[in-house]
Amino acid sequence: MGNASGSSRRRVFRNYDGTEEVEPLVAYFTPVRGRMMKDPLPGMKLDTSFKNRGKDGLDPTWQIAAVVHHASLHNLRVRAVGVGYSWSKMTSTRDILIDMSGLTRVITKKPQKYFEKYHLVEVQAGKVVREFVREIDIKFKLALPGMDNFMGQTVGGAVCTSAHGSGFNLQSIHIEDM
Ligand SMILES: Cc1cc2nc3c(=O)[nH]c(=O)nc-3n(C[C@H](O)[C@H](O)[C@H](O)COP(=O)(O)OP(=O)(O)OC[C@H]3O[C@@H](n4cnc5c(N)ncnc54)[C@H](O)[C@@H]3O)c2cc1C
Repeated sequence: MGNASGSSRRRVFRNYDGTEEVEPLVAYFTPVRGRMMKDPLPGMKLDTSFKNRGKDGLDPTWQIAAVVHHASLHNLRVRAVGVGYSWSKMTSTRDILIDMSGLTRVITKKPQKYFEKYHLVEVQAGKVVREFVREIDIKFKLALPGMDNFMGQTVGGAVCTSAHGSGFNLQSIHIEDM
């Protein structure tokens, strides 16, 4: 598989300090924000259910679903990554890497109340926490109950690693639903 410049070299994902390098053998997939009119991976044959949806193009959720479905049919391993602020081998994969960092939309228009003091906000997993916090403050006057010392990670990365601050009574960043 070639990269965007047409060279035969595979794309490499590096974590933020270069201690981890991932060079997936099958695909380094970057979902597009809008509708994708072609098959998400070169040489991939979309299943009928995806083909029917694909008439108007696949939205990001369906692009990822199609790639994961393809992987399950071919016994390939898939890993999603945010912006690579983890140190250990957490982003390592042999087959398919899905780069989530372009998916940054806050989807909720009007947050609904959730129990007494919370609100539900739906956001795409690639949103950087700093930007997320800024946006929900401006749009909804909401904030997260707690955060870690650092806000450069993605919402998905923070949830997957249970990122946390140091408040005794504060939980780690987590989600209620997907
Ligand atoms: C300077 C610095 C300070 C930090 N401070 C803190 C701190 O105070 N408290 C704390 O708890 N942590 C801290 N961290 C750790 C950091 O919060 C986590 O490593 C976080 O996961 C990084 O997010 P990321 O978007 O870079 O994820 P990545 O490093 O890209 O991925 C982390 C893991 O999550 C998975 N993943 C990422 N996105 C998705 C997705 N959308 N779907 C499924 N899986 C996904 C990846 O496969 C991988 O296993 C710090 C890191 C740095 C570099």
